Amino acid sequence: MTNKYMYFIANWKMYGSISSINSLNKVIKFSKSKEINKGRLIYCPPYTLISSFSKKFQNCQIGLGGQNCHESETDGPYTGFINARMLKNAGAQFVIIGHSENRANGENDKLINLKIKNSINSKLKVIFCIGETLSEKRKKKTKSILSKQIKIGLNKIKNKSNIFIAYEPVWAIGTGIIPKSKDLYETVNYIKSKFKGKPPRVLYGGSVNPNNIKNLKEVSNIDGFLIGGASQNANKFIDIVKKTYS
Ligand code: PEP
Repeated sequence: MTNKYMYFIANWKMYGSISSINSLNKVIKFSKSKEINKGRLIYCPPYTLISSFSKKFQNCQIGLGGQNCHESETDGPYTGFINARMLKNAGAQFVIIGHSENRANGENDKLINLKIKNSINSKLKVIFCIGETLSEKRKKKTKSILSKQIKIGLNKIKNKSNIFIAYEPVWAIGTGIIPKSKDLYETVNYIKSKFKGKPPRVLYGGSVNPNNIKNLKEVSNIDGFLIGGASQNANKFIDIVKKTYS
């Protein structure tokens, strides 16, 4: 049982349509109940749904975020992209940066650093994803990879109060596999130790579901969860939150 203030971030990836908005009614009702008085729910739907979600969440405390953004702070000739300012303008308060699915598509630490800087300048809170691949884990490189991702990704960002770290081992995303509790505790501690003063909140992401949340919530230094697949189902998402506090 945890009594901590926890964040539950739903990453819908490239799923969802206008009709998915109806599935939010249950979650909105739940967000207003006493069962969630110690946590915050945040949805990161595809860009096409940000404005509609924003209207839907008008009278509740559910947060809203984008799943990525272009690195340019100003508008410009970048066909197919949107920047942090546009996300903010559409009603988002958060943005996910550095997700491994985007790193796999060529985003490097320097580009991620630029995106984080511009997102902060646009007054968005950043969910900064870091994590090692399976081969890096096997080579015992987890700490050095995380250290590099943090160092370059947050280079020259003095005020880190609007940054959340999401530790997402790449081998745990969408695989049904989660780290051993002891390893996870140690890694989260390592991440927090990289910061002088008050460390940022560190969330865990990778195959979180209503069955394994019982184990994950026992990892006492975690400040919340970034949830992909299971978050697209309102019942499962609510179940994860309920089980975290039960
Ligand atoms: C994610 O993509 O951020 C994620 C955690 O996915 P899943 O929960 O499906 O593993």
